[in-house]
Amino acid sequence: MSKTNIAIIGAGILGSAIALELGTAGHSVEVFSDDHNAKPATHASFGWINAHTPENKHHFQMRLESMRLWRALRSAYPAIPVRQITAVDWDMPETELEETQAQYSDLGHETHLLEADALKNAFPHLNLPETSAITSYNDMVAEPDQIASFFKKHAEALGVRFSTDNSIERIDTSPNGPQLVVNATLHQFDQVIIVAGTGSQALVEHLGYALPMNNRQGILLRSKAMEKELNCLISAPDFHCWQMTDGTIIAGSAQAGREPNVDVTALAKQLSEKMAELAPDFADIEFTTKTHGTRPEPGDGMPVIDVVGEHGNIHLAVMHSGITLAPFVAKAISHQVKTGKQHEKVAPYSLARFQTVQEKIAI
Ligand SMILES: Cc1cc2nc3c(=O)[nH]c(=O)nc-3n(C[C@H](O)[C@H](O)[C@H](O)COP(=O)(O)OP(=O)(O)OC[C@H]3O[C@@H](n4cnc5c(N)ncnc54)[C@H](O)[C@@H]3O)c2cc1C
Repeated sequence: MSKTNIAIIGAGILGSAIALELGTAGHSVEVFSDDHNAKPATHASFGWINAHTPENKHHFQMRLESMRLWRALRSAYPAIPVRQITAVDWDMPETELEETQAQYSDLGHETHLLEADALKNAFPHLNLPETSAITSYNDMVAEPDQIASFFKKHAEALGVRFSTDNSIERIDTSPNGPQLVVNATLHQFDQVIIVAGTGSQALVEHLGYALPMNNRQGILLRSKAMEKELNCLISAPDFHCWQMTDGTIIAGSAQAGREPNVDVTALAKQLSEKMAELAPDFADIEFTTKTHGTRPEPGDGMPVIDVVGEHGNIHLAVMHSGITLAPFVAKAISHQVKTGKQHEKVAPYSLARFQTVQEKIAI
């Protein structure tokens, strides 16, 4: 039997994780990306692999399932740049902490609600305010600069080809399968997977489908390497940080990046002051580098994971929280490639939910 010839558009975390999944399944895979014109979100991410917002049960369960898959990947690839971290989270009104933690427990996410005294005992190196916090020992962090390259390296070892600096202008459909248009040349494939982050919208619209996007901006700052160890991820109101393996602290605030012209010097000062207040060992911290990214977020904030068109040979995955969800999405897309149908586990994330206006116009 001849191998299925698959093109992946995008080499961020989703494209490279899917490439590894499909390469492992023995498909012939070529990944196209254009990192000169389209800046990937993955490198600019905070990299926190977690489950939150339990009100949306399906999405929450999907995050938990993906966290289980991350743990399986860590067993299969011990050098993967992902590690377990203790998260200390009080980034919500204090009145909501107890109920949120109870919801986490009901949904199978093991966390603890620590009151102020217990919290101070558990994290004596921190100078925490008089607050309770939810602690999770099952969260993980992925090194944003390394994680896509790690998947890429292992996919390449299985024969997956990565073709960089190739902007896909559009996808044409033909009786023999989808065709990618690259530099006015047609490339024929059996199946195409669109995981082009913010670049997905234009490709999908060319196929005749609406894909409204919020594309929220975000800025994070990174410090010089610090010798002291932070040993946890802090998620405080308007401040979050963790320490990367090279000693660098990566930090942000909820507001950073929302306004187009951020004063980076003022932001660095604000984050340094917050860090020094919460973690006195880091009183001399200096934030020296900025990453600026755009979250590829569909208009209602939820992912799109679906088959596009009627032939079952074009697939789409676009979302915020793609670092958390990548292993789950890789499995779902691999299933779609095999069956030509949307995976039943991702039924709420179909593209059809955005097509109402178009259909009305057509009538
Ligand atoms: C500031 C910030 C903080 C974040 N924090 C977290 C977090 O803590 N946890 C979490 O889970 N998620 C977080 N996210 C979201 C996460 O980073 C994204 O959901 C994820 O990186 C998306 O991955 P992706 O592979 O879909 O897209 P990207 O990483 O954007 O990759 C898209 C790829 O498509 C390519 N491309 C685009 N258009 C074309 C084209 N026409 N032709 C060829 N190639 C094309 C690009 O070059 C790139 O290779 C954060 C994002 C930001 C910006």
